[in-house]
Amino acid sequence: MAKYTPMIEQYLRVKEGAKDAFLFFRLGDFYEMFFDDALLASKELEITLTGREGGGNERIPMCGVPYHSAEGYIQRLIEKGYKVAICEQLDDPATTKGMVRRDIVRVVTPGTVMEGKVLADKSNNYLVCVTELAGMTALAACDLTTGELYVTSSPTGTDTLRGEIGLYEPAEIIGDGALLDSVRAGTLPGDKPVLYTPWEKKNEKLARSQFGEAAWARLERERAECLALLISYLSETQRRSLGQLSQISSYEPGNYMILDPFTRRNLELTETVRERAKKGSLLWLLDRTETSMGARLLRRRIDKPLLHRSKVERRLEAVDYLYNQYIVREDLRQALKEIYDLERLTGRVAYGSANGRDLNALKLSLAQIPELKAACLASGSSTLREIGEGIDECADLREDIERAIVDDPPVSVRDGGLIRPGYHARLDELREASSSGKRWIAELEARERLATGIKSLKIGYNKVFGYYIEITRSNLASLPEGRYERKQTLANAERFVTPELKEKEALILEAQDKMTDLEYSLFSELRERLSSQIPRLQSLAEKVAEIDVYQSLAAVSAEQRFVKPTLTEGYDLKIEGGRHPVVEAVLKDASFIANGSRLTQDDGRISLITGPNMAGKSTYMRQVALICIMAQVGCFVPADKAEIPVIDRIFTRIGAADDLIGGQSTFMVEMADIQLMTDKATPRSLIIIDELGRGTSTSEGMAIAQAVIEYVHHHIGCKALVSTHFHELAHLEDSLNGLRNYSMAVQESGDKVNFLRKLIPGAADSSYGIYCARLAGLPGSIIDRAYGLLQHIEHASSVNAPADSDSLSGVRGGESSSAASKAAAVDTGETVSAAEAALETVPGTVAESG
Ligand code: ADP
Repeated sequence: MAKYTPMIEQYLRVKEGAKDAFLFFRLGDFYEMFFDDALLASKELEITLTGREGGGNERIPMCGVPYHSAEGYIQRLIEKGYKVAICEQLDDPATTKGMVRRDIVRVVTPGTVMEGKVLADKSNNYLVCVTELAGMTALAACDLTTGELYVTSSPTGTDTLRGEIGLYEPAEIIGDGALLDSVRAGTLPGDKPVLYTPWEKKNEKLARSQFGEAAWARLERERAECLALLISYLSETQRRSLGQLSQISSYEPGNYMILDPFTRRNLELTETVRERAKKGSLLWLLDRTETSMGARLLRRRIDKPLLHRSKVERRLEAVDYLYNQYIVREDLRQALKEIYDLERLTGRVAYGSANGRDLNALKLSLAQIPELKAACLASGSSTLREIGEGIDECADLREDIERAIVDDPPVSVRDGGLIRPGYHARLDELREASSSGKRWIAELEARERLATGIKSLKIGYNKVFGYYIEITRSNLASLPEGRYERKQTLANAERFVTPELKEKEALILEAQDKMTDLEYSLFSELRERLSSQIPRLQSLAEKVAEIDVYQSLAAVSAEQRFVKPTLTEGYDLKIEGGRHPVVEAVLKDASFIANGSRLTQDDGRISLITGPNMAGKSTYMRQVALICIMAQVGCFVPADKAEIPVIDRIFTRIGAADDLIGGQSTFMVEMADIQLMTDKATPRSLIIIDELGRGTSTSEGMAIAQAVIEYVHHHIGCKALVSTHFHELAHLEDSLNGLRNYSMAVQESGDKVNFLRKLIPGAADSSYGIYCARLAGLPGSIIDRAYGLLQHIEHASSVNAPADSDSLSGVRGGESSSAASKAAAVDTGETVSAAEAALETVPGTVAESG
């Protein structure tokens, strides 16, 4: 077999170190790809596939992208879930004899991108790492762009880890192969695509030096192991210092309200069920943040409601103050508006990719801090004052940048033009040399025009020939012979030089070269100085984000007439005039009907809600969950008055998210959710079940529904809201002293039903299922037939009812039946979340109340 050329041999050696990535191999002005990489990349990037002789028997497939536009191609591959290894020339080809050395300088992966479209301003880009040690599973999540790093752990085999991973929505997950497989198996349908990278190498030494011995010593073993794995991966892919990862946020999952992934989705906390969009979610409503880091913090807080009452109250105190102080709030907003993304700017400084514009953005942001700090210190809120006291204005850093960088620096940091005059004596000298040289040239031009009498004589410059004197062809005759040396002939002009001109040119160019080199090194020095101050900047960014979150929550709370909730350590949940925040906000005509809630030891812990489809049951139940979540996030709540006991976990069984995207049968999903609930719920939990038992046959569904309700009542003892089509279940109120019947009021007039959306005590008398089917536009013949069947089935069921009169007595006594219940399931409203439904016009709503 023929041998490859030395260059291809070199390529193959480098490629050994990046088998799972595209290797962008720098050759002059291009990054080239070869062999299989070329075949695949040409398809994925739609670039021309060519070939090259490489010494082998056949031509080697090849394709390439220009180095100056490589960024866009890299982004596209990352978005498609690939990795890209960047191999650079380590020597200057111009001064190197023989082959230049080449090596990988960085591997870009979905979890470690530092720039580009992939990074949305208002969300994080996390790389998650999972490990297992001695019965504990640990998880680390890191965002290289902002420098955030979280680590936690929980006993292996619990579902905590799955929920936590879901929270971060990672772009990439790394970890031991087997563990990674089990994580992958636990992903939900519809989850964002993730790159799974098996990785087993740990580097504890590096991790220790990254975070410092003191921080390291405080970490639990399994968390330390996890970070050791993460750091080894980062160092092998990034191959540079990671100064932005300075602080470890180690937390206990048990410090936060637990919300499993389905519940998060069902309640539409950060995105809607159907469109997976932010618009229409709770986050969308509450987000009035002015900075990107504020937006990201708000999202994290909504994802993690607190369990510590005092911590929640600390937050509420700040919101309360700003709620009432419109002018302070507006002042804060104005200052925040001018603050750029400090976290990401800091990340770029640490990474060494910040340019002059980034430093100026940092400077302008820092200029707002004194005002922000003063406003906090002068405020009447102890929380804000405490934040204000902790603010380090970083004025020294701002002044340092201000002294060094011109007001409008170029994008590139390598071509000069970014350092201010007066910053550095040598630079000023060089600039003087270069400009005096240029002055000399301008004078020479004037002199020579006089001497030759040629008015159009001019001195020009280009990169190939340097400075030259140009004389048009028509004037050549008047030029004294031998005055200049001929250099270049153009169509209608001649270009000349003189020894004197060449001498000056050398001086000017040398000064310019030195100037750009010096500027670059001055800039790098400044960037490094800033880089050594990263923890200061990061802690400042955190405080700015927190202030931003408070003003955002206060602004929305004031606008939407939310009230401050009272958090208690007790059991009873009491809400007066509660509203669904998002549905209310999108119903423009203020037509939302408020409803109270009492889930207490004395007045019933379980509300069983009946009422036809579209009556507002699901909206009502979600509103209770959202009010609890908002309260524990530290936000005001949509109610007239709210007393909220700290809730440790919310379970939901709502037929929307899973049914729409899952492949599993509705009933199986429902049963799996109920299983989780029976296993994990505590008396401090809140359970919400919409349409319990609807996924199977009527009598079975009703039997299971009753059994589940009894279990919750007898064995869990937590607060629960259950809606059902089976109004026959209303009899449970007699046997379960903690259960109360409620229904959504409707008003019938003629053949129309008016939904009043008002929760009233007592069960509904009929489920209006067939009526709803008619609203949905089913043909009259189907409706008539259904009414006929209904009578028939009702008759049959009263004859064939099971002997156990206690368990299913409602079937017999009920006025409605299976047919009605099933017909009700036809309604389109059922699988639509309330918020989304309200965003659109809901078909079939005959008359709105209010
Ligand atoms: P159900 O669960 O009983 O089928 P939904 O909760 O889905 O009913 O409510 C149906 C529609 O009624 C929602 O899309 C919403 O727009 C509207 N709605 C619900 N509750 C209210 C309310 N309290 N005030 C005004 N409109 C409401």
